[in-house]
Amino acid sequence: MRKLTKPLDEPGAVFLTCISRVRNIGLKSRLTSVGATIVAAANEFEAAASTTTLHTLIPQNDVNGIVTKQEMLEVYTNRMAKKDAPGRSIYDKLLAAPAHGRCPLCGQRVVSTLDHHLPKTEYPALAVVPINLVPACADCNKTKIAAIPKTSDQETIHPYFDDVETDLWLYAKVIETSPAVLQFFAKPPVGWDILKAKRIEHHFKVFKLSYLYTSHAATELVNIRDRLAQLFSKTGYKGVNAHLSEEAASRESVYLNSWQTAMYKALAASFWYCSGGFSA
Ligand SMILES: [Zn+2]
Repeated sequence: MRKLTKPLDEPGAVFLTCISRVRNIGLKSRLTSVGATIVAAANEFEAAASTTTLHTLIPQNDVNGIVTKQEMLEVYTNRMAKKDAPGRSIYDKLLAAPAHGRCPLCGQRVVSTLDHHLPKTEYPALAVVPINLVPACADCNKTKIAAIPKTSDQETIHPYFDDVETDLWLYAKVIETSPAVLQFFAKPPVGWDILKAKRIEHHFKVFKLSYLYTSHAATELVNIRDRLAQLFSKTGYKGVNAHLSEEAASRESVYLNSWQTAMYKALAASFWYCSGGFSA
């Protein structure tokens, strides 16, 4: 959804930093020996993410038959994510990337964790690979948990590799009920290729964005009701329509595909809403 600059941290160096304080000599030796495999897995991920073929990567039960899945999960949890762990500064840097701490997957909630784009339980070699670690809110992280794409069109949007910000694809529709309800949907532009269009629709569904945006919009509708009633009593439909159009333009200038932009555009375009539907 929201584009992020791809981290340039070298995966081999990140892995070595994470395992730098391993005391057990045997474990340290085994972990060190899979460094090249980690780098190869990162390169494979990079190539696949760039060509929407992540679904072709085969899940693994261990790293090279040398390091177990559990040991890799512990490298992430205890040596990267944990407070004061050697890899924590890299974790913090990745976490801090989105503007205003906004989750790039939903564009709404606040970032609180790193999401493994390909789950670490299925791809242990990618457990601490920076380009597989996406800052996310707790809900997006939970919603997607351990989901593996089986086809290209099931690959959710990856903020480091995909850019869906410049074209309009998020729309809202006013449901003329009492109170009014906003329904959100993804409608990819005609010029997009079918795969990109299917992926944004899949992303929208997987992260339950329709539900999330409708819920936030409901609060906003209550907040603007009194102001619209005042405007309507003085200037009627025209004044309400002009005000909502201005609000839409202001939000659109910040972000084309925010639920706020979609909402105000839909409200301004609804004759029913601008003619008193706001107070229904
Ligand atoms: Zn989110």
